[in-house]
Formats: sequence, structure tokens, C-alpha cells
Amino acid sequence: MAYSVVPVGHVRSCFKEKFAIPRQPALAPAARGCLELSPPFDRAEAVQGLEGVSHVWLLFIFHQALDTEPRLKVRPPRLGGNRSIGVFASRATHRPNGIGQSVVRLDRIEPGKLWLSGLDLLDGTPVLDIKPYVPYADQVPGATNAIAEAPPALLPVDWASAALAEARSHALRLDEPLVALIEQCLGQDPRPAYQVPSPERTYGVKLWDVEVRWHYPTPASIRVLEVFVQA
Ligand code: SAM
Repeated sequence: MAYSVVPVGHVRSCFKEKFAIPRQPALAPAARGCLELSPPFDRAEAVQGLEGVSHVWLLFIFHQALDTEPRLKVRPPRLGGNRSIGVFASRATHRPNGIGQSVVRLDRIEPGKLWLSGLDLLDGTPVLDIKPYVPYADQVPGATNAIAEAPPALLPVDWASAALAEARSHALRLDEPLVALIEQCLGQDPRPAYQVPSPERTYGVKLWDVEVRWHYPTPASIRVLEVFVQA
């Protein structure tokens, strides 16, 4: 039997492309955005009571990774992108029905809008449902996962001085913690694990309306070179 689902809203997030989005929520607390609810869920009744809740589960569609053929095995980036495991052993984006789930911080509520942080969702992501995080039920003391035991190791991120000044100035303009966002996202080393970066090669990503360019002076360190808005 097929079921149809209709999004309750869409996320407007700092992430304008998939590259450099953290692999799980909360890895970048400075990753913020707004869930814009669609009618009839944009009315105040739909979120009444949520003001007493610090975090919510979002169930969403990986709308930019939908498959036409089912996959039984996936190659998660965490395993270097060259080892495959069963799709149900992974939180990879390519999966049956393309459904993702993330626990995110609920910072503020307005009728029709939930302001969120710690996002790992692309701008425009359709959200199917929102549920309050229930600490006594959702925290599992002693839980284990041999494939994903700990958060990814962080690389040190440093700045060309002009880039840091540019980031600070765009942070003020956007009223967003842009310096922290860049450090938190790049520190997780977004480059594919199989690519050994030469110092000459530059990488780039767009966060909010800001282009960020960086390179790897050594394979284990990142230097932000430029932060600018495309004319
Ligand atoms: N926390 C969720 C989960 O476990 O279902 C998502 C985990 S998934 C590994 C996180 C990645 O999904 C991000 O790094 C980003 O590249 C990708 N992503 C986020 N939103 C997406 C979207 N709407 N469509 C396709 N890929 C998306």
C-alpha cells in the first residue's frame, strides 16, 4: 500500500548547498534557520505548548537525494566513502523513502515559524512532522554504535586576517554567528575523505549569502582565505 505525505513546512537554513553541512545535528550549534509552517499548521494552535520544549525532532525529506531505485547498501562518508554497509545500519541520505530525522534546538517560536539551531538541513528541506524531544524517553544511557562511536575528529581552522575581518563584518550584517558557523562546519573537514588536498587547491561553500573559500596548508589543517558576497 502506498501512503502520501504532505510537508507541514519548509526549512530556511544557512546551508545553501549540501557540501559542508555537518553529518548530524548539534555538531554545528551556530547553524541556524527557521522552519516556516504551511497552512493550516501556521496557526498559533499548532505550536501551543511547544514553548516549554528546548529541542524538537524534525522528520524531513532528503529532497536533493531522492533515488528512483532502492539501495540495499550505502557508502557513508564516515567510513571514508569506500566501504559499504547495509542501508539500515547507516543514516546516509540515500535511503528508502528519503526520510531524515534530526533533533534540533528550538530557540524561539512565532505563529507559523520555529527558529532553530544545530541544524544539519539544507535550505528548502520539506519537513513532514515535528515532535517534542522527550529527554526521559529519547536519551538512552549506555547505548552503543560501533560504526559511529564518537563525533568526527575536528581539524584546526585558522584565518587569513582579512578573511576574519570580512566574516565579522558579514556576521554583524546578518546578525548571525558566522565566524563560529564557519569554524564549526569547516572543522569537520567537509572534503571527501579519499581526496588528499594539496595546499594549492581551494575549496568553497556558500553559507547564508556569503561565499567562503579555504585551503589545506597541511592535510590536517584548514585556513580560511576569503569571505565575500558574490556581486
Ligand atoms: N540527521 C539526519 C538523519 O540522521 O537522518 C541527517 C543525516 S545526513 C547523514 C546529513 C547530511 O544530509 C548533511 O551532511 C547534508 O549533506 C545532507 N542533507 C541535508 N538536508 C538535505 C536535503 N534536504 N536533501 C539532501 N541532502 C540533505
